[in-house]
Amino acid sequence: MKFVAEALSLSEPAARRLYRRSILKTAFLPHPFFSDIDDAYLLEKKFGRYEEGTFIALSGGKTYVVRGFPKIKRTLVLSECVRRHFRDTDVAVEEKINGYNVRIARIGENIYAITRRGYICPYTTERAREQINDEFFKDHPDCILCCEAAGLESPHVQKEIYSKRLDFYLFDIRKAKTNEAFGVEEKLRIAEEYGIKVAPVFGVWSGDELVENAFRVVEKLDKEGREGIVLKDVEMKKNAVKYTTSYCNCSDLYYAFRYFNDLGRDFMVTRAVREGFQSYEFERLNLQELSREERYARIGKAVVEGVLDSIEEVLETGKLRERAKLRFRSEEVMELFVQHMRKLASVRFEYAGEEDGYHILIMEKVVASTADRIKNLVSGGFW
Ligand code: ATP
Ligand code: MG
Repeated sequence: MKFVAEALSLSEPAARRLYRRSILKTAFLPHPFFSDIDDAYLLEKKFGRYEEGTFIALSGGKTYVVRGFPKIKRTLVLSECVRRHFRDTDVAVEEKINGYNVRIARIGENIYAITRRGYICPYTTERAREQINDEFFKDHPDCILCCEAAGLESPHVQKEIYSKRLDFYLFDIRKAKTNEAFGVEEKLRIAEEYGIKVAPVFGVWSGDELVENAFRVVEKLDKEGREGIVLKDVEMKKNAVKYTTSYCNCSDLYYAFRYFNDLGRDFMVTRAVREGFQSYEFERLNLQELSREERYARIGKAVVEGVLDSIEEVLETGKLRERAKLRFRSEEVMELFVQHMRKLASVRFEYAGEEDGYHILIMEKVVASTADRIKNLVSGGFW
């Protein structure tokens, strides 16, 4: 705890108090796979200038701080927001990849994958060690790679559109301790140098040209079934801004209504409102590729189909499940991951044997509340 207190400029008793109040939590399960880590903590909430998800580890007498990934603000009316927020700055339009946020850092001799909340994830760490060229850390030991881990074999967001397996898409390079970000050009140059896959950058524009091109990209991504864009001042001095496609709003709504009794109402409301604002702006700017009627139909289908698919699944199987297929090189890491997830979520696991040198694990989230609701309603219960 002493190293945490020092890293956060606190007294030791103050750090202990944070721990008792669960603002500071243990960030890893001790295991030979995490051999470099002597001890590690995370911040569950923003604390002083330290973001939520900040990670602090002790390794071989050295303290490592990895700052939490900063929040990205969302715009619902892109053209006006761009004018007000970015004015004449050069802005990069990047693809927003729909996976989960991972910060990759080298601690001691190995690289570790830290989730948004600040845990070292065994699964993501093993995938990252297999896929990320760690030469980068030899030349930039005080930096982290901020990546979106996306694909079908994901414990959090399963999307086949990116790839069947889990891949890492670099979107920021930052100084671990200060969160200072490299400029967009520099990031792309480094990614190229070390062969690290990036979240696509469609171009750099400013002013009206930026607005026009951003919408052109949004329309293209919408057609391709992708999530949206993140706008970044090329120097990475201003806050980034995110904006999502109608496709994403609808697929989120499908998901929300599929699990209508388990998911927060706020999740549903925000997506519906986003769609309304997008419709307003697209019409105003004459961008309407979709007619109003088509939009109504699409969003309505997402909502109704979500509920219907769940009813059918419950009638057929008696339950509602969300399944993820995960692969592990090492059996020990697989067992460690099971322990790790059991601490964080209510999930079930099923070992599915070996497949080209990997152990396959099926992770299942049982969505009990929606399933019970459906059973009750279809047999005549009251809402
Ligand atoms: P926030 O990060 O804004 O607090 P959130 O956790 O709900 O919100 P999202 O709405 O998914 O997350 O949007 C932000 C996240 O998008 C980032 O944390 C990052 O994981 C992800 N992301 C995907 N592609 C990019 C990209 N090109 N640039 C920045 N972030 C990206
Ligand atoms: Mg996301």
